[in-house]
Amino acid sequence: MKKRSCQPCTACCDGWVKMTIQGVPVFPGHPCPHSTRQGCDDYLNRPIDPCVNFSCGWIIEPSPLPDWMKPDNGLVIVLFNKFQWRGVPVDLAVPVGKRIPPRSLAWLRNFAETHRRPLVHTEQIMEAGRYQEQQQVFAHGPPAFQEDLLRRQGDGMALWS
Ligand code: SF4
Ligand code: SF4
Repeated sequence: MKKRSCQPCTACCDGWVKMTIQGVPVFPGHPCPHSTRQGCDDYLNRPIDPCVNFSCGWIIEPSPLPDWMKPDNGLVIVLFNKFQWRGVPVDLAVPVGKRIPPRSLAWLRNFAETHRRPLVHTEQIMEAGRYQEQQQVFAHGPPAFQEDLLRRQGDGMALWS
């Protein structure tokens, strides 16, 4: 399989993944200050955490994601094994844009069911035309998984770190 490369995608640097870069909060509508929208203006000095360690599910090798699900085309960033639930890996999918397009979401749900991997996916919340830091969270998996996540959300607990 041909080695995958990011360019021209810059989705993770453009704020679609919530993170903090050198003390600056990055979230939808608030790209990393080093993002040029074509790449990173300080790539050699990018932080180890999160940048170097970032495990984009499309670029990891081997990746189960098809070519068309590159984040700038599938409009979703997938983080495999983001956390564990009862010893089972849980995958996280965040939209590049307001919500994950139906084709990408259908692929992810099918993958979750086929491989018995619970899936958490999110949708941006907009208020007054602006993206908010918080996202709406959806759980796809066994009823007990969905109930646990709902309970954790209700208790204000972080679903992942
Ligand atoms: S989202 Fe993935 S493919 Fe896109 S720039 Fe980031 S690491 Fe590369
Ligand atoms: S420092 Fe560079 S690699 Fe890291 S998020 Fe910002 S633009 Fe992307």
